[in-house]
Amino acid sequence: MDNTYEVIIIGGGPAGLSAGIYAARARLRTLLIEKGIFGGQITNAMHVENYPGFPNGISGFDLGELMHQQATRYDLETRTAETNGIKPRNSDILIETNEGDFTAKAVIIAGGAQFNKLGVPGETSLTGKGVSYCATCDGPFFKERVVAVVGGGDSAVEEALLLTRFASKVILIHRRAQLRASRILQERAFANKKMAFIWDTVVEEIQGDEQVTGLGIRHVKTDKRSTVEASAVFIYVGQSPQTDYLKGIIPLDDEGRIITDERMESGTRGIFAAGDIRKNSSRQAITAAGDGATAAISAEKFLIEQ
Ligand code: NAP
Repeated sequence: MDNTYEVIIIGGGPAGLSAGIYAARARLRTLLIEKGIFGGQITNAMHVENYPGFPNGISGFDLGELMHQQATRYDLETRTAETNGIKPRNSDILIETNEGDFTAKAVIIAGGAQFNKLGVPGETSLTGKGVSYCATCDGPFFKERVVAVVGGGDSAVEEALLLTRFASKVILIHRRAQLRASRILQERAFANKKMAFIWDTVVEEIQGDEQVTGLGIRHVKTDKRSTVEASAVFIYVGQSPQTDYLKGIIPLDDEGRIITDERMESGTRGIFAAGDIRKNSSRQAITAAGDGATAAISAEKFLIEQ
């Protein structure tokens, strides 16, 4: 099998798939490597309302699937594999995966970001037993139960609203007294009678043996500790890129995000980045898609210049 490509794209979310559409339509021999589900994190969103072209919104799963269908219409090769090394060489770049090695003249890294863990006792042992990072996947298991959500950003509020469709009550616990989420989501959350809010509070422990039964919490201003009863806790405390394998290969910021210029080129020749994995990304599906298109156009120019 010929494992040599002009462009290799790492990551099959909106950034990677958009890059794939552009690279394949430019008739570049292109491979897209995705370790999980094509469509990326957006596939977990129940309803996407801010992607242009869908005035009534669209399910994240359908949006991811449509992007995947569109990308593979144009001779884009795809593979399911986990990338664990990138090595720039004299005339090409070596990509090491658990399914073998590949080479390319240009690489677009669009690996996205993963949900952060809270890092408190009970979180790991009760994952899948009431601790969840995906309300769309696990919300329906908690019909007419009280559930908690941790975080105050768009993810926390959007997923809390989704959970109100199933749960009898959704308690959002936030470490400050003001949400970070967009205004429209805040308005919906405050208007929803199933929503309750615990402000200025952090979760210190997730309680339960076989299943989550409650949370040990602490008020950050008074230091008062108490317990909240809940059958599940959905954790949305930010996202981080997985770029450990890129350390020392391309310049990263303090949070591990890839530093790019406006052409999406990293500090290492021939390596581009797009979407949530790069520094200063607005971390939206639409901006990721834009980054992907820009990265592919820049990669094409780079290959012509070679
Ligand atoms: P985020 O915007 O980084 O928000 C993370 C939230 O978790 C913040 O409220 C933060 O509190 C809190 N937090 C962080 N670490 C914590 C800890 N250790 N303990 C307790 N709370 C902690 O992350 P996100 O909500 O996942 O959103 C990521 C990006 O995706 C954003 O750019 C967002 O706009 C985008 N997004 C958009 C949509 C949409 O357009 N509908 C949906 C989902 C996500 P502080 O506020 O105090 O920092």
